[in-house]
Amino acid sequence: MLAPLLLALQVAASAPGASSIAIRAATSVQRVALVGEATAPMLRPQSLAPLLPVVVTQEAPGRYHVLVSGVAFGLEVGVATTTIGGQVTPLAAAPVERNGQLLVPLQLVSEVFPAYVNNLRWNAATHELVIFTRVGSAKHQARLVVVDAGHGGPDNGMTGPLGAPISIYEKDVTLAVAKRLGLELKSRGLRVLFTRTTDTLITLSDRGRIANQAGGDLFISVHVNAASLDWKDPAAGRGFETYFLSEARTEDARRVEEMENQSVRFETGTAVSNSDPLNYILSDMKQNEHLRESSDLAALVQEHLASMHPGPNRGVKQAGFRVLVTAFMPAVLVEIGFGTNAAEAKYLSDRRHQAEIASAIADAAAEYLRRYERRVGAGEGRDER
Ligand SMILES: [Zn+2]
Repeated sequence: MLAPLLLALQVAASAPGASSIAIRAATSVQRVALVGEATAPMLRPQSLAPLLPVVVTQEAPGRYHVLVSGVAFGLEVGVATTTIGGQVTPLAAAPVERNGQLLVPLQLVSEVFPAYVNNLRWNAATHELVIFTRVGSAKHQARLVVVDAGHGGPDNGMTGPLGAPISIYEKDVTLAVAKRLGLELKSRGLRVLFTRTTDTLITLSDRGRIANQAGGDLFISVHVNAASLDWKDPAAGRGFETYFLSEARTEDARRVEEMENQSVRFETGTAVSNSDPLNYILSDMKQNEHLRESSDLAALVQEHLASMHPGPNRGVKQAGFRVLVTAFMPAVLVEIGFGTNAAEAKYLSDRRHQAEIASAIADAAAEYLRRYERRVGAGEGRDER
């Protein structure tokens, strides 16, 4: 019954000016309708799901983030390019919005997706997107590191330095370091997913959600620190520190926690109240199982940064960061230096030093994953997914 039906569908699909394509997996086929002119066919990316896992997130009016099997494609209405891991790739036509729905050119699905998503092939003869089943267990796949550039869009993060005209915006430094970190991780054989690759606002909870949906193995959030004006000499504050999620243990950790959680002010529809679920979630077992792992990762990040960073090592710290709360995986937040200090603001703005910082963090992540793989191999790790 099934075979003749499929044959008929294939014939229809291969006809000129086909009005649909097919998604083919090992045991099932799904049809996806095309819209628009036959010469410039478009489709709704969500219509590829559920056979192909696609998550569409609107980052800002006209700006979208399409996640396909853990690979993020940045799209903008009216702009005929897509951004993947900081790289810009041309599209056959610009994405459009119709009735509030994002439509993308078929070429994004037939050419660009297969070029970046490992298990996809396009069959031009049958107009089919073929999904190959991954061979081997998850253990043999490269680990996925989620790289989160702090702040973005209307949320500048901190600005500095103190006592001088503004020369450093945290959101720009975090994006530059995050992009570089992605390259460094890839060069170490790891897979990378960015929560943002442009100057855009992503809510703190969405950052974790993006990481979870992609099945991330590690989450690294990059930030720039700011001194408290209550300090004796705020402009002199320097150095790097790495946090993992827990209840803030010191007054200074609470200061950084408050500062980084301020981003919610820019999120529409996010109410901050006393009934905040943060403390409740902190006690959730799902997070606690990653506390030890997160603390190990934080220690390695500090160790590697200490080998190259001119500022003092301020150590591993704990605080209740919202961005870490929603990521159910070992997760750290790295404060790569103080933008309030003139010398460190200059250091953090320098591309060469940004690359060195990124390289040190990538070394830490790679070393952590090597140790972790060994633990898994010895049967002491968590269950395989
Ligand atoms: Zn920050």
